[in-house]
Amino acid sequence: MDAAAVRCLLCCVPLVCGNPGDLSGSGRGPSMACGHTVLMRLVASAYAVAQKAGMIVRRVIAEGDLGIVEKTCATDLQTKADRLVQMSICSSLARKFPKLTIIGEEDLPPEEVDQELIEDGQWEEILKQPCPSQYSAIKEEDLVVWVDPLDGTKEYTEGLLDNVTVLIGIAYEGKAIAGVINQPYYNYQNNENQKLREPKNEAKAGPDAVLGRTIWGVLGLGAFGFQLKEVPAGKHIITTTRSHSNQLVMDCVTAMNPDDVLRVGGAGNKIIQLIEGKASAYVFASPGCKKWDTCAPEVILHAVGGKLTDIHGNALQYNKEVKHMNSAGVLATLRNYDYYASRVPQSVKNALVP
Ligand code: AMP
Ligand code: MG
Ligand code: MG
Repeated sequence: MDAAAVRCLLCCVPLVCGNPGDLSGSGRGPSMACGHTVLMRLVASAYAVAQKAGMIVRRVIAEGDLGIVEKTCATDLQTKADRLVQMSICSSLARKFPKLTIIGEEDLPPEEVDQELIEDGQWEEILKQPCPSQYSAIKEEDLVVWVDPLDGTKEYTEGLLDNVTVLIGIAYEGKAIAGVINQPYYNYQNNENQKLREPKNEAKAGPDAVLGRTIWGVLGLGAFGFQLKEVPAGKHIITTTRSHSNQLVMDCVTAMNPDDVLRVGGAGNKIIQLIEGKASAYVFASPGCKKWDTCAPEVILHAVGGKLTDIHGNALQYNKEVKHMNSAGVLATLRNYDYYASRVPQSVKNALVP
């Protein structure tokens, strides 16, 4: 079964202020409904919500019961973390921004959402930034939010924790314009002791947190929360799927004449590899990836001068009526997009109808 839109599906909870529970946390501040644009308030809230999402992702692992459910097949999974995080993100944003359209990956029954899952904060640093003038008059009802509560679920269930991200993408007039990516296990392999200190870290999540990080961006403003780096000149390092490969995917990767191929989980994770100089192109010549996988990552990449399209070179559309599947795959680069686009075989293009 394909995933379903969850517009306000989960907003049947009573209105409350604040959330002092042990998952609460990041960027709490006054509501400041006045003086800031809707877009910047939404991004600031999405940042806080994504940080709480990262804590939930870590907590589910720590508790040990992943609650794995197969969706369409053995490589298309849902865990307790996917479910809880979607409830948390959608309910938290729907309460504050009731006129938004929110489309989440998971098909969940409407149910009352535990108060502990609600994040009411906003990241104040974002509110200090100017809203790009072309977005200053946007109204709440004009925005579409694409939510992937846990990207890289297959890898999450296999313990490849740094492949996992939480993705909140924001679209206006069909275009991805703002996004937040939380990587709950950023740094987890650098220092085994971090795992032991997890409960303390939860209390002070933020840009300085040792475990996990949040990247955010707005077109026309920039992308933040990471150090931009490029792959050494002349190197062609392709990043592609680890768990959803097929002949077309392999044919297209081979045609790139790569120096190296990285097979990792998650669309968010692969875009992070592009902006941190670990890979030069994300090549996925297959259906399978959906709008919630690409919306936030595309913004981060575009905000630093990169490009993400389908395998034909078409821009992806994110209006609320659009079909969820990116049927014609994904091609993304930080630099030298044309080189990779020119190497996509005609046979691969013929097989992938937008
Ligand atoms: P991957 O690169 O395999 O981690 O895929 C990136 C995103 O697209 C993840 O959210 C995957 O779940 C999704 N995806 C890609 N291919 C498929 C597929 N064949 N079936 C279900 N989901 C897929
Ligand atoms: Mg995903
Ligand atoms: Mg997901």
